[in-house]
Parts: sequence; structure tokens; C-alpha cells
Amino acid sequence: MSFQIHIADSDVRFPCAPDETLLDAALKAGIELPYSCRKGVCGNCAAAVRGAPVARGVANAEAVPDGQELLCQCRPLGDLTIAPGHWRRSEPDARKQLRVKVFRHTLAAPDVSVLQLRLPTGQRAKFRAGQYLQVRLPDGSRRAYSMANAPHESDALQLHVRHVPGGQFTQRLASLQAGDELDVELPFGQVAIDPAAPTPLVCVCGGTGFAPVKSLLDDLAKRRSTRPVVLVWGSRDRQGLYLHEQVARWQRSLPGLRFVAAVEDADDAAALQAFHGRVDAAITTLAIDAALADVYCCGAPPMVNAVKAVCLQQLGLAPERFHSDAFVPGPAA
Ligand SMILES: Cc1cc2nc3c(=O)[nH]c(=O)nc-3n(C[C@H](O)[C@H](O)[C@H](O)COP(=O)(O)OP(=O)(O)OC[C@H]3O[C@@H](n4cnc5c(N)ncnc54)[C@H](O)[C@@H]3O)c2cc1C
Repeated sequence: MSFQIHIADSDVRFPCAPDETLLDAALKAGIELPYSCRKGVCGNCAAAVRGAPVARGVANAEAVPDGQELLCQCRPLGDLTIAPGHWRRSEPDARKQLRVKVFRHTLAAPDVSVLQLRLPTGQRAKFRAGQYLQVRLPDGSRRAYSMANAPHESDALQLHVRHVPGGQFTQRLASLQAGDELDVELPFGQVAIDPAAPTPLVCVCGGTGFAPVKSLLDDLAKRRSTRPVVLVWGSRDRQGLYLHEQVARWQRSLPGLRFVAAVEDADDAAALQAFHGRVDAAITTLAIDAALADVYCCGAPPMVNAVKAVCLQQLGLAPERFHSDAFVPGPAA
């Protein structure tokens, strides 16, 4: 048995089994909706749901706007209508499972690995800037990592992985070297930033939240974009800004780019002439009209929540212009 799910203001309907989430059923039916963590934490998949009631799973109450539901956590109890902020049809079979080979494993900081992965000969990885892959671990669980390379470099994948003490994939990383293989599936995630839009873009990231931002800015550089972009990269100390030299390269290829480093260590902030403090404080000093911008924020969930609160409550940003990937820890849902 399955229920019929209708997308408001369209003639699109798709089936959803009672034990399936509305998000999973939509993705299976080739409908792309905004989402990121799939764990009820980030709030990206929030939408109004009308008609039959739903069975709710775990959800971070702060991430659920009034009158909406998290589609990654709802199972239908009858036919219903959903009203996502935006949606589109996806390409059938766009997602691939691949066995990739480690080409290079380097340390960009004492606790950050950069993995360069090669795809099997003749295979291409199709993804959009801001999307992520899932690595399958030997026990069958999965971890999510954002692609750090631009989509046009489709015969390889670059990942930036922060070492989490005691973490399962972190332990695998310790011995991972050139020639080793990993099972991955991609793409996942739906960051609805139009790379060709002319509006100012504010990218805010903490630590390895830099990875999807790098993909996005490499993509803009490839498009020779003149879009005004402010990059705010936050870290506890200077080592956390682990690919600082990449920013200098963009300053040559992206004429609209302005870079703000936000460093919590006072000595390192002074040495780098960086903003001393956290990214959520740094963005209040930017003197940009955030109400006219798109904001893209990636990193640890508390950082993403703090930036969202400042953008929406202090800077007047419309909620639909705040895009985020919260690096929610633990196995991927
Ligand atoms: C959409 C998405 C994209 C992501 N992209 C990236 C990325 O590009 N780079 C990246 O480094 N990470 C990213 N992550 C986080 C990543 O998926 C893993 O959660 C992380 O690498 C830890 O995996 P692990 O197997 O080493 O640790 P686990 O075995 O999952 O965790 C071990 C223990 O550490 C805790 N823990 C895990 N992570 C953290 C943390 N960050 N802070 C505090 N405690 C923690 C766990 O709760 C657990 O108790 C992303 C997560 C999501 C949801």
C-alpha cells in the first residue's frame, strides 16, 4: 500500500509507502527538494504539509518553522499535499555507487586530511557545487563528505576531512594511502544556489565547511563570474584556515571577491590581520545589505545555527535566501 503525495500548485503526484519518509519518496520519484543532513537537524527540508496527518521521527524543534514539517522525518498516514519552497525534476539514475581509488592523501593541517580520489576509467561523477557523497564503511554505516572540487573536474573527487578523535572513518584515514579503495555513492544534498545569479553571495564557513564553499568558488571562477562574493572563513587558530593560499588564487580570478578571516586565537588573528572572534560576530561587521544577498553557510551545526540567527534576526535576510549544510556528526541517514 502507498499514499499519494501531491506537490502544491502543480499536477505532480508521487507514491509514498507508510514506512517511507516524504523526502525519500520524492527523491525516489525523481523530484529534487531542498535537503541536507537527512537527520532532522539542519531544517533545510522544512515544508508545509496539508491533508492527512503524518508520523514524525526525531526532529530538532528549533529547525522546524511554525506550521511546517521536516520532510526527512515525516511518514504519511494518508494522501497529502506538500508545499516545498522550491523543487524540480531530477535526472533519472543521476546517483551512482562507485569504487574510487585514493590518488593522494595529504595533511592540510594537523587534523585535516585532503583526499584526492580517482574514479574508475571512463566514469564521470555528476554533481553540483555544494553537494556531498557518502563513504560506505566496513560495518555498512556511511559518512557524508562534501565535494571540494568543482563539478567540471568530473573524473576526480576531492574531500577535506577533519579528524574526529575516536571517529570510525577518522581511524580508517590514519592508514589510508595512495592505491587504497573506498566505496562511495553520490551525489546527495540540494543546495539551491544558482551559480549564474547576479545577486551578492556571502559564503560563511567554519573549518572543513570550507570544502563545499571551495567547490562553489572554483565553479564561479571557471564561469569567469563577476558576482560580488564575500567569503568569511572561521577557525579557532591559523592552522584551521588550512588552504589559505587558495584564497589568494581566487583573488586573481574572481574580481568580485572579498575575504574575511575570523580567528578566535587573539595572537593568530593579529598576525593574520584577521577579525578576532567567531564568524557570526564577523558577519555583523561586513557592511553589506544582507537582505539583498544569498548566504551560504557550512560547518558544525552550532556555528550554522548562530550564523542563521544573526542573518535572519539582525540583518533582515529572508529565510529562503539562507542556504546551509550543517555537518551533523554520526552515520549518514
Ligand atoms: C551533509 C554533510 C556533509 C559533511 N561534510 C563533511 C566534510 O566535508 N568534511 C568533514 O570533515 N566532515 C563532514 N561531515 C561530517 C562527517 O560526515 C562525519 O560525521 C565526521 O567526519 C565524523 O566521522 P567519523 O566516522 O570520523 O566519526 P564517528 O564515528 O561518526 O563519530 C565518533 C564520535 O565522535 C562524535 N563526533 C563526530 N563528529 C563530531 C564533530 N564534528 N564534533 C564533535 N563530535 C563529533 C560522534 O558523535 C561520535 O560520538 C559532513 C556531514 C554532513 C551531514
